[in-house]
Amino acid sequence: MDLQAQDIKKDLAQIVGEQYVSDNIFERVKSALDPMPYHIKNDSIPYVVVLPKNKEEISEIMKYANKNKISVFVRCSGTQLNGASRPHAPGIVLNTKRINSFEIIEKGGYFECEPGVRCKEMADELKALGYWLPVYPGSQVIASMGGLISNNTSGHLTDTYTGKPGDYVHGLEVVLPTGEIIETGTVGLRKPAGTDLTKFFVGGDGLMGIIVRIRMRLLPLLPRAYGVAIFKDLEALAGGVQRMYLEKRPVPIFMEFMSKTIADIGFQVKGMEAPPGPVLLTVTEGLTKKEAEYKVDEQVKSFKKEKVIVAYRVTDMNEWEKLWGTREVIGSYIMQVQRGKLITSELSGNLAELVEIMRDAESFNEGLSVLQEIPTLLFGHIGALAIHASFLLPADWEDDKLKKATDELFQRETEINFKYRTCGGEWGQFAKRTPFFIKRYGQFSYDLVKNIKAVFDPNNILNPGIFEGHR
Ligand SMILES: Cc1cc2nc3c(=O)[nH]c(=O)nc-3n(C[C@H](O)[C@H](O)[C@H](O)COP(=O)(O)OP(=O)(O)OC[C@H]3O[C@@H](n4cnc5c(N)ncnc54)[C@H](O)[C@@H]3O)c2cc1C
Repeated sequence: MDLQAQDIKKDLAQIVGEQYVSDNIFERVKSALDPMPYHIKNDSIPYVVVLPKNKEEISEIMKYANKNKISVFVRCSGTQLNGASRPHAPGIVLNTKRINSFEIIEKGGYFECEPGVRCKEMADELKALGYWLPVYPGSQVIASMGGLISNNTSGHLTDTYTGKPGDYVHGLEVVLPTGEIIETGTVGLRKPAGTDLTKFFVGGDGLMGIIVRIRMRLLPLLPRAYGVAIFKDLEALAGGVQRMYLEKRPVPIFMEFMSKTIADIGFQVKGMEAPPGPVLLTVTEGLTKKEAEYKVDEQVKSFKKEKVIVAYRVTDMNEWEKLWGTREVIGSYIMQVQRGKLITSELSGNLAELVEIMRDAESFNEGLSVLQEIPTLLFGHIGALAIHASFLLPADWEDDKLKKATDELFQRETEINFKYRTCGGEWGQFAKRTPFFIKRYGQFSYDLVKNIKAVFDPNNILNPGIFEGHR
């Protein structure tokens, strides 16, 4: 390690204590890794990894980094799927995992949590008191609340029913790149105090500040009902969902799908017989159990008007648990059963053209030089009209080929989303969507965001590279 890095370590130890700053090479590499299939660049391995215990320590770290113009990469679990949590330059990795307390204020109708709280832990704590968390990614066991709100991630939730997690955020506490600690929002529902700064941080990719406290509305857990439909093909499945919305059926809280190939894997892992076609799963809530069941029955009526093999409301909870288990963490199952590195795109449909988008998803890899060698795997949050076209890359491919495959994936994702005037809604914005943003909104709009970042972060020290589209 060179002198500069040693100095940084020593200076940070003054702030957080020696045991919470590391220059161990394994720690540094581990803290730069993420699910991307290709290696990190040697010159992006951080000098040090720092684990502050509270916002005051983060503030001191940022003041120090800003004064010395050292890049800081904030992360928690590092599960982001497009390279936004890997460093793109030498610097400090700041991990929020020690900042992990929460408080559920039932009387106030909200809860507060720190960024290092795990999503599943928060969801379980809320559930025990009769509430549910409006954030549900496949990575919920490990992903952090800070990472999730910074990405405005919905995961399995249907946007038409729940909106986005950010819609439930009352306010935040944030440490700015220059070290100031600010608060946004209120403890109430309405917050008309002028421009609401909350919006710069929710879904903000950690470009403008480090979220250190999140305040969200409590949502009562209502009775739920469940349904399954197996279609003859994927177009029929897309047609069923489109029809459900156009026939004004009650909207589900989750609605997921798997192609036949993917469902075969999920069903195999759960010890179930392979389904005869692509599978759709739906979860719907109501004020009473009866109301929830009525809603699922209404949805099923729409599915039955398409080429469906079977569609029904599930009444046996054991059956439902197994069915949901086939889908919930299907990405992990694919890698477990078939070995390899999974890369995933997000095609975001529009209602009018959902069937066409499904067709484009099926032929996603046509004409691509690397990805056409391997089959397209389809699953996703179809209630939100979101389709993941994914590929399992062979583990023995060279790094360059893995990188090329990922570039092709994101480029084709951009083309399809551009064609349908949509944009994948999750996994952060810029690390993979800079070209999309410029193409869709123009250089002027891109420069506006750049200028806004410069106001918050005059020395561009926080998460540099994401905005530039590095991954
Ligand atoms: C198996 C699997 C399934 C997944 N399923 C989904 C899914 O269904 N939907 C979905 O959207 N994503 C999904 N993801 C991606 C990922 O889990 C989410 O993007 C999640 O939001 C990241 O949380 P994290 O703690 O890992 O954040 P990290 O990866 O550590 O960070 C993610 C981003 O947030 C920023 N950040 C982190 N903490 C803060 C903070 N305190 N303040 C400001 N910025 C911060 C980081 O700089 C980075 O840009 C999945 C990933 C895996 C591996």
